[in-house]
Amino acid sequence: MAFHTHVVDTLINRPLELVFGLNAREPFAVPNGYAGALVFLRFVEQQGARSAWPGLGPAIERFEAAMRTEWLPEVAGAPDMEEWRSYPHSPVVGLEALRWQRARFADENALPSQTVEAVAESTGRLELWRGAAGVLQGLVLGGNAPVGLVAREAAALEAAWLARPESEAFLGLAHGQLGIVCALLNAAIVTGEPVSQAVLSRLRGLYDAQQRAGQWQSMMPSLEGSLCNGMTGAALVAALAYQVTGDASFEALFSTHLRAAQETAVGPSICCGTGGMLLLMLVAEKLGLLPAESRDWVKARFILLLEQRKQLSSFLGFFSGYCGLAYIDFLLHHPEAPVEFPILMPAQTP
Ligand SMILES: [Zn+2]
Repeated sequence: MAFHTHVVDTLINRPLELVFGLNAREPFAVPNGYAGALVFLRFVEQQGARSAWPGLGPAIERFEAAMRTEWLPEVAGAPDMEEWRSYPHSPVVGLEALRWQRARFADENALPSQTVEAVAESTGRLELWRGAAGVLQGLVLGGNAPVGLVAREAAALEAAWLARPESEAFLGLAHGQLGIVCALLNAAIVTGEPVSQAVLSRLRGLYDAQQRAGQWQSMMPSLEGSLCNGMTGAALVAALAYQVTGDASFEALFSTHLRAAQETAVGPSICCGTGGMLLLMLVAEKLGLLPAESRDWVKARFILLLEQRKQLSSFLGFFSGYCGLAYIDFLLHHPEAPVEFPILMPAQTP
């Protein structure tokens, strides 16, 4: 049985508490919780798989109901930023919440009022995983946000970022400067507005400084090749920058960082291991950044990765658990499916 089939069957047939087990610390978060399972299940559903799995629709309802009744009132109804801020991975989770809120409530007033400026002011954080960039990313990829609103929020993030000293922050995607650029580039793709020269020149400066340093500054050596804090994240941002600008220097940066990630990434997860690098390669092939044969390399590496899957921290998360690997497995079995890097990049049509 294909790996993704096994995961879909499990999500459909087991009670939620058994699906996640007792060790799920963040039951609603994309990395390890319901929202991550929803990212995967909705994608499977969008590929017209309902007839293959009659239980798919009810399973999605079940996960949505758990988020709606147990989690959303907590954060969406919070009058200030406290609960939003204290929740780990809040913007990433908020993105999922925004996505289905938009689908369910036509009334814009029912949406959470968090904005880039409010989060930047109240938390002091601009980063993607836990700060203002995550809010912009949520607006951009979360559904049908009005273009004017995305442009306004992107301008606020750009101004806040450029006002900070270049040397101040960490580089990595999840908690550093590349994550801020990632949100700005995604906003540009959605609005069709060009990215400012100031943003692009600071981005080039970040890559230059990293290459001059000769080594990747990572929180932990094991994360050097990772998506969250390492070179897979740097390759992903270079791919986005190439998509937005068509500038060949970003294509070269993508290749350099991807090669380095291929040599250094360890472990199975999307977030911290080789899973993110493999998913990025599938996206890059659709973008024309890699040849079609790269898919065979991904397939071979993925088989090795599946053997390591018991190392994953919780059963069904997307970034840190089985759902992310099931997503890659689904893509490898369905070459015709559109490819996106959930949460981080818009869909690429084949
Ligand atoms: Zn990670």
